[in-house]
Amino acid sequence: MEYEDLIDNILKEKKENKADRFNPPEVDTQQIGQKTVVFLDKISKYINRPVNHISKFLMHELTAPGQIDEGGKVTLGGRFSRKLVNDKIQLYIKEFVICKQCGSPDTHMDKIDKNYFVKCLGCGAEYPVGRIK
Ligand SMILES: [Zn+2]
Repeated sequence: MEYEDLIDNILKEKKENKADRFNPPEVDTQQIGQKTVVFLDKISKYINRPVNHISKFLMHELTAPGQIDEGGKVTLGGRFSRKLVNDKIQLYIKEFVICKQCGSPDTHMDKIDKNYFVKCLGCGAEYPVGRIK
């Protein structure tokens, strides 16, 4: 086997392993009256995205006002099921975490000026992602 093929194979395996291992934890929620508290600390660390950014996405998607608290929580105005919140988290991951080029979850997000860019550590792709208004 050619040396370069060998390297290719190793890189490929690495990427596949990483994708296999990618198993984001489910997000916990808690209903308090007409509000829903969403615990984002674990998922935030797992997918390497700020609680702030995930929270804004949830507020936008659920058209709910929200308050971001210390310790990785966001309190949304309105009652939302745990399943719905987790569906939105999946959407977030698809939009802001998974590389659109190669499908790797091993990406970084940087904020340059007011725009966010996703950079893939797998294939090196870099592209802007939508702003959450
Ligand atoms: Zn990629």
